[in-house]
Amino acid sequence: MESFNELNISKQLQYAIADLGFEKPTPIQAQSFSVIMSGTDMVGIAQTGTGKTFAYMLPILQDLKFSKEINPRVLVMVPTRELVLQIVEEIEKFGKYSSIRVIGVFGGTNINRQKEAVAEGADIIVATPGRLYDLVVSRALQLKAVKKVVIDEVDVMLDLGFRFQLTNILELLPNKRQNIMFSATMTDDVNVFIHDFFIVPTTVSVAVSGTPLENISQYAYKVENFYTKANLLKHLLQNENDFTKVLVFVPNKKSADLLFDILDEFFGSEVAVIHSNKTQNYRIRSIENFNAEKTRILVTTDVMARGLDLDQISHVINFDAPNFPENYMHRIGRTGRAEQEGTSILLYTEKEEDAKAAIESLMDLQIEELDFPKEVEISKQLTYEEKPQVVEINNPNNVEEVGPAFHEKKEKNRKENQGGSYKRIIKQKYKKPKTRGDKNYNKRNKRK
Ligand code: AMP
Repeated sequence: MESFNELNISKQLQYAIADLGFEKPTPIQAQSFSVIMSGTDMVGIAQTGTGKTFAYMLPILQDLKFSKEINPRVLVMVPTRELVLQIVEEIEKFGKYSSIRVIGVFGGTNINRQKEAVAEGADIIVATPGRLYDLVVSRALQLKAVKKVVIDEVDVMLDLGFRFQLTNILELLPNKRQNIMFSATMTDDVNVFIHDFFIVPTTVSVAVSGTPLENISQYAYKVENFYTKANLLKHLLQNENDFTKVLVFVPNKKSADLLFDILDEFFGSEVAVIHSNKTQNYRIRSIENFNAEKTRILVTTDVMARGLDLDQISHVINFDAPNFPENYMHRIGRTGRAEQEGTSILLYTEKEEDAKAAIESLMDLQIEELDFPKEVEISKQLTYEEKPQVVEINNPNNVEEVGPAFHEKKEKNRKENQGGSYKRIIKQKYKKPKTRGDKNYNKRNKRK
């Protein structure tokens, strides 16, 4: 599709599109428009970066007539607070000339203020499922006017354990409604979920490894260990002309803090970090500063960064080769977006070679290997995890460091542990809202 004119959209939306500088619809936008306008349920398979937010918002806004109705007519559910803020901001831009009332609600902040905001009326509510459910249960929000519901990042929602809350909310919605769902990946969980709630949905799909990959130059360096990776990264980041906006992915919070400290010493205020142990305000500020180009380098974990809309990333650095190859796809999808060129660099150690091979097999593409720069110092320092250790069977407290002969076995064990820690992060994240939701739900039902 060559232009937005082909979609027959309102003047107000055309002005907003012109302000945003969008020239033509992205493939997911072109394909979703008529499906959503027709009123059928839709499942969109598209990654962040493909323009998926506008793919569902454009037809929804086109269809949303002015109304004094207090209760929302459109409900958008997303997995994280960051995503709520981001989507509200996008909707405000799209709806600039259409007097759209949009409110974002999410957990971890004062519920009373959100109750007041909701009481004033809204056309669109963007919410995380836990807080939305709390607002509905406390009768601050009614869902009886909802005609369209969008569930974005369903794969992440189900990963974070939101299935129960989503189910509860969907059951409270009017039967006559349109369901629109977006997911970056199709998993067994997502498939079951669709079949439970959707009526013969039309699937619109832009290949997971499709458009963005073509815009991304991918390179890899084989590196000795964590601290050598840090030395190489410091070396690369000194090139300020090319590395203008850099997103560095690390596997967990611990590596995030460790790497941040190293980079902070060198680059100071040019670098920030986000992970789930940082306060929400800190995270929001870090993302805002990064987007406003006040900080050049942002260190993040996979879970934190998923779904975030970060523009104009020049480089994605993979500080490790992730065990789940899909995570690599999500990471590099943050650059080369909306038809811009981007670069991805993978730093991998010998023991990460299998993970790298799995990534290459998923993409059906060989990542170009670069020579390790001679001027970069190879560090002999090892992280706690990298140090070979032996635990005496009868004395688990007595951890003794041993020589390289034990290297191989220890590394194999570590790999399995890392997989577990990813699951633990997810589990830890959803524990609180799920328990709260469960309790209220059961109490309410018992009383009936
Ligand atoms: P999303 O996949 O929704 O997170 O969008 C990715 C980025 O692409 C956002 O920064 C949008 O503002 C931008 N975008 C969305 N649609 C278009 C378009 N048709 N042309 C250019 N950029 C777009």
